[in-house]
Amino acid sequence: MTPGMKINTWATTAANQPLAPYVIERREVGPKDVLIEILFSGICHSDIHQARGEWGNSRFPMVPGHEIVGRVTRVGAEVKNFKVGDTAGVGCMVDSCRTCINCAEGNEQFCEAGCAFTYNSTEMDRKTPTQGGYGTHVVVTEHFVVKVPEGIELSAAAPLLCAGVTTYSPLRQWNCKKGDRVGVVGLGGLGHMAVKLAAAMGAEVTMLSTSRSKEADAKRLGATSFELTTDRGTYKKLKGQFNLIIDTVSAPHDFDDSLSLLRPYGAMVIVGAPTQPSKVGAFSLITGNRRLAGSSIGNMRETQEMLDFCAKHHLGADVEVIAAKQINEAYERIIKNDVRYRFVIDARTFTA
Ligand code: NAP
Ligand code: ZN
Ligand code: ZN
Repeated sequence: MTPGMKINTWATTAANQPLAPYVIERREVGPKDVLIEILFSGICHSDIHQARGEWGNSRFPMVPGHEIVGRVTRVGAEVKNFKVGDTAGVGCMVDSCRTCINCAEGNEQFCEAGCAFTYNSTEMDRKTPTQGGYGTHVVVTEHFVVKVPEGIELSAAAPLLCAGVTTYSPLRQWNCKKGDRVGVVGLGGLGHMAVKLAAAMGAEVTMLSTSRSKEADAKRLGATSFELTTDRGTYKKLKGQFNLIIDTVSAPHDFDDSLSLLRPYGAMVIVGAPTQPSKVGAFSLITGNRRLAGSSIGNMRETQEMLDFCAKHHLGADVEVIAAKQINEAYERIIKNDVRYRFVIDARTFTA
């Protein structure tokens, strides 16, 4: 492919439309840019929220996709850390101002100017729409590209770029360590990575799920126990047990129930992004000085650290590789809770 050329993607043109083949133009490779031939692109539930206008911020046409793994096929003259042939990853962000206090502290996701998200956003010129990873190629400034270490199968590596770092970051922020009791709420794309990562950090992990059918999987992924959140008995049995809870649920649900499971000074971190707000009772927090927090993806340093951690611990996502023509069906299956545990699109199938 010649830079600045048209490429094949899959996009949606409106919140009520399915995804379909769509041709876009990527920018020329600038001095600091890396051109990546995409190999695999994961499907995150956030893609569905945005493609269907559920967060109220959708821009169309939209090429979703922020779990990208591919091969570097060209680098700009000033690129320092990548060369042609490297295996590279791109996650949820593709640029930020690089000068504000949050960028200076290495938290690009909180850029005061607003970072450029990989899709459904704009470049920092605030005019050019960004378009995501459901396509054959992407051009990204070097700072927002990470190295995919050897030892992780590439289809299994793609979901690490969002699901991996979004769960790794809060586990590190809240100092997850050997012997901690960690609860993970919701066993989907994010949840299954939270279980694997927390177990690899030495925690004793309990899966809190609405789906009895996932019990054996939860244990295979590294949970020592599995409890149904639909059973009131679970809240009696596990009251006050956890140091940390990571809540990955994509639909509105009760926060008070899960908060009651925290030990004094324990924290529950919300990473799932339901469209409707949840009520939280003051006494759920006052009792036991419990903490309720949120966490947004992870910064670029954490993203690389997470990939290196996964390679060291031989972790990747459990994936079902699909062709582009199965994207709409995959969206429906995710909504029906029928994903084990991430769909990943084979980028060779993004044909016109
Ligand atoms: P997913 O694969 O669809 O998993 C969501 C899980 O939530 C399901 O597997 C299910 O687990 C549980 N669930 C679904 N509906 C439920 C309901 N009505 N009540 C209770 N539990 C329910 O989604 P994902 O890709 O992991 O994403 C999860 C959420 O995180 C999405 O809202 C996504 O937008 C958000 N997200 C946030 C960030 C961030 O930066 N904070 C980054 C990425 C994604 P069980 O069957 O085990 O109950
Ligand atoms: Zn995501
Ligand atoms: Zn900034």
